[in-house]
Amino acid sequence: MPDTIERFAKLGIRREQDLLLHLPLRYEDQTRLTRIAELRAGELSQVEGVVTRSEISGRGRRTLLVELRDDSGTLSLRFFHFYGSQLAQLAQGRRLRVIGEPRGGLFGMEIVHPRYRLVREGAPLPDRLTPVYPTAAGIGQATIRSAVLGALKLADLADTVPTDCEAVRGLPTLLNALKLLHEPPPDTSLLALEEREHPAWRRVIFEELLAQQLSLRQARAARAGRRAKALRERALVERLREQLPFALTGAQQRAWKEVGADLARAQPTNRLVQGDVGSGKTVIAALAAAQAIGSGAQAALMAPTEILAEQHYRKLAPWMQALGVRIAWLSSSLKESEKRQVRAQASAGEIDLLVGTHALIEDAVELPRLALAIVDEQHRFGVAQRLALRGKGSKLPHQLMMSATPIPRTLAMSYYADLDVSVIDELPPGRTPVLTKLLAESRRDELIERVRAAAQAGRQVYWVCPLIEESEALELQTAIDTHARLSQELAPLSVGLVHGRLAGADKQAVMDAFTRGQLQVLVATTVIEVGVDVPNASLMVIEHAERFGLAQLHQLRGRVGRGSAESVCVLLYRAPLSPTARERLKVMYETTDGFEIARRDLAIRGPGEFLGARQSGLPMLRFADLDRDADLVEAARDCASRMLQQSPEAVQLHLDRWMSGRDVFLGA
Ligand code: ADP
Ligand code: MG
Repeated sequence: MPDTIERFAKLGIRREQDLLLHLPLRYEDQTRLTRIAELRAGELSQVEGVVTRSEISGRGRRTLLVELRDDSGTLSLRFFHFYGSQLAQLAQGRRLRVIGEPRGGLFGMEIVHPRYRLVREGAPLPDRLTPVYPTAAGIGQATIRSAVLGALKLADLADTVPTDCEAVRGLPTLLNALKLLHEPPPDTSLLALEEREHPAWRRVIFEELLAQQLSLRQARAARAGRRAKALRERALVERLREQLPFALTGAQQRAWKEVGADLARAQPTNRLVQGDVGSGKTVIAALAAAQAIGSGAQAALMAPTEILAEQHYRKLAPWMQALGVRIAWLSSSLKESEKRQVRAQASAGEIDLLVGTHALIEDAVELPRLALAIVDEQHRFGVAQRLALRGKGSKLPHQLMMSATPIPRTLAMSYYADLDVSVIDELPPGRTPVLTKLLAESRRDELIERVRAAAQAGRQVYWVCPLIEESEALELQTAIDTHARLSQELAPLSVGLVHGRLAGADKQAVMDAFTRGQLQVLVATTVIEVGVDVPNASLMVIEHAERFGLAQLHQLRGRVGRGSAESVCVLLYRAPLSPTARERLKVMYETTDGFEIARRDLAIRGPGEFLGARQSGLPMLRFADLDRDADLVEAARDCASRMLQQSPEAVQLHLDRWMSGRDVFLGA
């Protein structure tokens, strides 16, 4: 048995309770037989019959062909892979029950690789739907099923949800819900089970969401109980504000007030500053860093790409240096000796603000006085990476995150319930809305003329190369080809090229030339997706726009419209478009509002993408779907509040039942 125990452990099953909560993925109706004459192609069916012929046919690749007959007709069963023993097992005269999807063959219906079982005549059919469980290699359905049924017989699961909780009214108890889901009576609606709308599923899903709410609330309480350095000294902040070339917008002022107040507390901050592309989040990060550094601490800013991190560094460096702040840059593209030097300075406390990429979270980096960890585009990092940055100091730092991707409401209430959010819902003055045009690739010639005219009128142009997900090498080649072709087509204009494979210094040289206006056109891969800031660039072309996701398109488009010139984004597409691609392009055409785009993205695609948790490989929700079960998320939140106040023992019981081993990443 130890073997079996180990295998079950792989499925996360260690206790009887876990077994009970290991619920079927789907069900099969084996309670009925279909007569062979009534089989319909493509419809999963169960048939019983007697073998009238079985033979191995074909040369080279051999096939086992079995003919099955009932009183209505005959059916062929075809096996391309089989064991010698199967030939004997499926000999003439044997009675079989067969499950599979028939298809129309040359000689009537056939099923390829059916599941089958030898039966005696008159053997009773199951009187329940047959559950199909998630499994891992080595554990058969039958093993899981019998283990579950054994556990169900002995099960004694007291309900943890208070009976006066509105959401469970009319739903079965947990135990009854589990019984039904493991062994649904034949009259249960398969559709309701499959869509997870059956009251039994609703009960289970509610319980799971409740567990999530409870654990997030506990994580929050635990955080409130932890201590961080209170960053109270504002003098440096005031000096930075005086020196800024602009006044903060109203929205920035509000966000800064919240962030600044958080940092002054002795509890670790966990705040997200959310604002559309171009709304001015960087300055909030700068002010926060100034408050930390002015209070005698170190700060770190981590961004997901080299280009983005570098942009931050270049924006922040003059501001910081003017204040006498020691700012440094760390990325994996630095020479080993340079990296070593930065690390030595960081751990000696000779650096106040360290800006960089993932290189910041490498083991060798130490920031002994770290009191503020800022993470830009936080959803691009895995939870573990954010945790690693937090661990760089000797004490828990305040954590500030920034994102242009709004969190949908249900996610904000669930996965991110432990997060405070400040929203920058206003763009700095003087921006002009970007006009979006959709253009079929067949009209590329016209577009080239437009690009030329724009460049000659003193405007600058981004040309974004197609995304080639399957091959980085091919993507790179495409960028190089595109650059060569455009250089020719647009001569004598100067066309630059920037892509992810360029060495840091080369990349910077190209970006500098573009920023200074020495290049009129910049051909780029998606490395410019985030953070690049050249106000004079007012035309963007995105090739094969149909291949990009909505969030990506929105980020890209945000690179233009930063100056006073009327800006245009041309989405070049190749027909025919898939329905999803068409829908995405339509959204881009219709709106420039990041929140609206995120909402429609969620509708097209589901919430998975927003979850950093996904990258941890540990799905925190097994059954609930935040989109489908949005109403239950809200109900669970209310119920969690009351349980925490009224029945702490039930809270513990509930969490123990639902969250064993799953709470590692909570509160990250
Ligand atoms: P994002 O929110 O996308 O990170 P940034 O912080 O890069 O935006 O800001 C975009 C641009 O707007 C930068 O050039 C920045 O200097 C400028 N900016 C930020 N705040 C203001 C403001 N209040 N007034 C004018 N310009 C601003
Ligand atoms: Mg930014």
